[in-house]
Amino acid sequence: MTGAVERVVVTESDRPPREERVELALDLLANLEHERVPLPAVVDRIETVTTDPALVRRILDEAELRGILDREDGRIRVRRGGYVSFERDVVSREGDFDCRRCGASLSTGHFVRLDAGELGPFGSSCVRKVLGRE
Ligand SMILES: [Zn+2]
Repeated sequence: MTGAVERVVVTESDRPPREERVELALDLLANLEHERVPLPAVVDRIETVTTDPALVRRILDEAELRGILDREDGRIRVRRGGYVSFERDVVSREGDFDCRRCGASLSTGHFVRLDAGELGPFGSSCVRKVLGRE
């Protein structure tokens, strides 16, 4: 043993496939608590699932097609309000994590459970932002 820390490199191919990421992002959008959200705030949330601009655009189009949200004058109106119950649908785990939103290192990771899968880890304030609680 050299004591060196082995770093796990996550490559694009290790991530969930595109379709799965689209579903995860749509699920997240459908669970936003706030009714009206500025477009950049919505994109900020989608970027916790994917930072691929083409995929972000597809997710927005798909969300509109499925009636999850409407775009009006640069703002987003969320139409489906089946939002995540914090107690039930956010799980926390101890470990060595990097926040998926801001990159901060965490000893407790918060994961959002959605129908399409789990999203995270996030820090405690970022998970609230992702869910539109603040
Ligand atoms: Zn964070």
